[in-house]
Amino acid sequence: MRVMHTLATLLRPRSLVGRVFALFALGMLFFAAAGLGVFYRFQYLQHIEETQDAANTLVEVASRSVEDSALIGDYDTVKRTLSTVMLQSPFRSASFIDLGGGAIRVDAVPNRLQASAPEWLTARIRNELYDVNRVVAVGGRDYGVLRLRFDDNKLASQLWRLLVQSAGLAAVALAITLATARVLLARWLKNLGSLRFYDGDGAGAALTPDTPLEIREAIQAVDRSAASMRDKYGQRIAMLMNSLVQYKSALDQAAIVCEIDRDGRVMAVNDQFVRQSGHPRELLVGQPLAQAGGWTPSTAVWSGEVAIPGRDGERQWYRTIVPIFDAGNSVEKYICIDFDISERKQFEDAIVRNAMRQGLIARLGRKALEAGPLDELFQLATHLACDGANVRNAALFGFDTEGGTARLLAAGGFPPAALALPFACPAGPAASETLCRWSASLLGDHEAGSGIDSIIVCGARPFGALAVYDSAARTFQEDEAGFLNSLANIVATAVEREDARNRLTWLAQFDTLTGLPNRHRLSTCLEAAIDAAGAAGGRAGVMFIDLDRFKSVNDMLGHSVGDELLAQAGRRLLECVRPDDVVARLGGDEFAVVLPHFGSTEQAEQIARRVVAALAEPFMLQGQQLFVSASVGIAAWPDDGDDAATLLKSADTAMYSAKHNGRNNYSFYLASMNENAAQRLQTERELHLAIERGEFELHYQPKVKLASGALSGFEALLRWRHPQRGLIAPIEFITILEETGMILPVGEWVIAEVCRQLRLWCAAWKTVPPVAINLSARQLTFAGLPEAIRDIVQDAGVDPRLLEFELTESMLMVDPEAAVKILHALKDQGMRLSVDDFGTGYSSLAYLKRFPLDALKIDRTFVRDLPDDADDAAITQAVIGLAHSLNLKVVAEGVETRAHLDALRSYGCDEIQGYYVARPLPARECAALLAKAEPLVA
Ligand code: C2E
Ligand code: CA
Ligand code: CA
Repeated sequence: MRVMHTLATLLRPRSLVGRVFALFALGMLFFAAAGLGVFYRFQYLQHIEETQDAANTLVEVASRSVEDSALIGDYDTVKRTLSTVMLQSPFRSASFIDLGGGAIRVDAVPNRLQASAPEWLTARIRNELYDVNRVVAVGGRDYGVLRLRFDDNKLASQLWRLLVQSAGLAAVALAITLATARVLLARWLKNLGSLRFYDGDGAGAALTPDTPLEIREAIQAVDRSAASMRDKYGQRIAMLMNSLVQYKSALDQAAIVCEIDRDGRVMAVNDQFVRQSGHPRELLVGQPLAQAGGWTPSTAVWSGEVAIPGRDGERQWYRTIVPIFDAGNSVEKYICIDFDISERKQFEDAIVRNAMRQGLIARLGRKALEAGPLDELFQLATHLACDGANVRNAALFGFDTEGGTARLLAAGGFPPAALALPFACPAGPAASETLCRWSASLLGDHEAGSGIDSIIVCGARPFGALAVYDSAARTFQEDEAGFLNSLANIVATAVEREDARNRLTWLAQFDTLTGLPNRHRLSTCLEAAIDAAGAAGGRAGVMFIDLDRFKSVNDMLGHSVGDELLAQAGRRLLECVRPDDVVARLGGDEFAVVLPHFGSTEQAEQIARRVVAALAEPFMLQGQQLFVSASVGIAAWPDDGDDAATLLKSADTAMYSAKHNGRNNYSFYLASMNENAAQRLQTERELHLAIERGEFELHYQPKVKLASGALSGFEALLRWRHPQRGLIAPIEFITILEETGMILPVGEWVIAEVCRQLRLWCAAWKTVPPVAINLSARQLTFAGLPEAIRDIVQDAGVDPRLLEFELTESMLMVDPEAAVKILHALKDQGMRLSVDDFGTGYSSLAYLKRFPLDALKIDRTFVRDLPDDADDAAITQAVIGLAHSLNLKVVAEGVETRAHLDALRSYGCDEIQGYYVARPLPARECAALLAKAEPLVA
């Protein structure tokens, strides 16, 4: 089977013509074989039949002639007849067997030329034909038998010849047919060979005219589909080609492209390549690929980053080398594509650099936060500056801008010996415009090529500079400057913080205004003084100083004047004390002096006197002369307190006492003075109760005309009849009333009480002098005051001209315009007005003129030392002159002696008031004075 298959394969014609022809030939052969077979069969049977019939006929004929001859016994004739039979016949022998036993026999002449038929044919014929026997009878008598024997050989060869001949003929015909068919087939099918796609110019397959219809249609169909395919795929291919071209041009735009041969030599380059390299194309081609970054020709795709020197210096490339294979799958060439990643690289480098610098900045920041010694921070800053700017030398200067020098605070990289200190400003021009001069000088001294510095600015003050220097001359980049600035800023912040810390420590202990130690430091000093005194078995003291009337200066002239006054006062205090004594400002207008060596009371007194005298001197403030005075309290350890706090409190109490005893004074602490804040609270509560219970009463102090000695008026003075403590003077509670606002109801009560008293007196006496009422500052700020007073006075039905109001200078000067209005309102009602405590405050003469005043009361501190104190005498005289020039009456307060009286009279004073005339008296005691017709003083 397998062999057959192989054979079939081998025999199978290759060409279509061969195959069609083979089929055709097979068919022809089949029909020829079948036709010949049938033909031969028919011929054969017919021949056999005909031969048999012919033999039978021949026997009949022969038998007739033989009958005649046999009748007569003419055997010759028989014999001739037999021979004749034999002549044409296919017999081998013809014999006549005489019943008598004789036999005549004629055999066929053997034919040597006779073609020999195959034995199977001969045998077959032999079987098919039977010998012919005929009884020869005449007249009912049998003479013998005529027998004809067929010559099968002859018959077979005849038939065989026929067969061979016809087969040959058929073969010839077949051959001719096949040959013709072969030629025609080849001719018809030849067109198939010309079947092909259009070559583009529209010419289809060339067909011979006799092309069979089917083939013609097939070819045309193929042509048509080829055409449509060409249309369809042609467009696609065109598009593809187009985009390929675009890709290539895009690649050419974006990248540097070159082709490399198998040995790594450049075959072709694009324009970018030429541009970047800066060499002509001809020079590049044939050269080995420059610096392929470790690439060697291989079958794998290679990619990596390479640095290639080009026209604009070295640049970074991302290079990809792709092998291109030929049909045999071996590398034909390489395509090398370079993308310029220089900028990205620079960007990456910048990021890395920046991160590194941020780290350095953070490190310095952390160091700064540690708040360690600044030296260490400066040192670190220079080291970090070197690292961050990638240079070897850095320096940090501190400027002394006034002296024109700089101190080197820290240096990185410079040999220590090479740095001379301090850096003087160089004589010549700076090495670089942008460098600070000391940096420029350092740059010049050490032959550095270039440098950059950043000024360290603390607040608004240039503190110094942080600088870096490179050995090469180069331009420093913006990011380097930024980095340096960041370091400089951290240094600046640290310096500022350190300054602030120092300042805080200072502020915690000193007073900014005067520069003196503050309360806190005073306590420390006092404690130290107490300890030292304890150790030495001695005494320590403290002096509490309060400026009298400071508040009015501050209120009237503003804080700047007040501040200046305090500063000056502080300086004066320093001049009064001994070197070891410590002057401190406790706050407000309070000062204190620690006296570590208290020694004798006289020594302390001496200092206290000096202090009082120094502060009583006029102050020159903003072009004006101002007078203040001081009250001083003195306390000593261990008598007046165990510790610093107690001692200071004792001194404070003593100071209050001094103030009460008329200001401008000093006082030593006495245990009886102790009055504390709790007591004040208690007093406050009791004052509330006093208003409710009506514990206030008024005493009246008379005023006397100096000219006649007659009673000229009274001043109503408030007294508090305390259920336990008895009668209390206003010095102890009037400030509390003012501070708490209780002065308003109490003040109204005073007016009403005076009115009530006046009505009683008026009812009793014909002439009643006016009664003066003290108004407090708080009352004066109450806009409805004139109306309130009017109502009270009207209610009481008292002549308003019997009322006088005393107001201090400072009260009037707080808001002079408002005061002018109120005073006029009161004046319009017919009341009198006077200025109390004149000389202790500050008065504007211009305003004084505008107030509708009737009198000036000279403060008793001016009267106290009359007539001995020349200053006081001068002041008193001046005041009297001034008052008279303004048409004002002058009343002197605190007249205690005859000397006071005489002096005042000689100065031309109009009236006096004081213990010399009378103390403030209860109303009923005043009756005697009212009744008295004689002068009260002589
Ligand atoms: P002031 O207005 O200067 O009153 C005169 C003060 O001097 C009175 O003290 C009086 O007793 C005292 N005095 C009189 N003669 C002499 C003297 O010869 N020598 C000395 N050393 N002192 C003398 P007082 O009564 O203690 O009043 C003190 C201050 O209390 C008064 O000073 C006044 O400013 C205020 N005050 C008194 N009563 C009232 C009032 O009803 N209302 C208001 N707002 N203040 C009043
Ligand atoms: Ca008064
Ligand atoms: Ca007074």
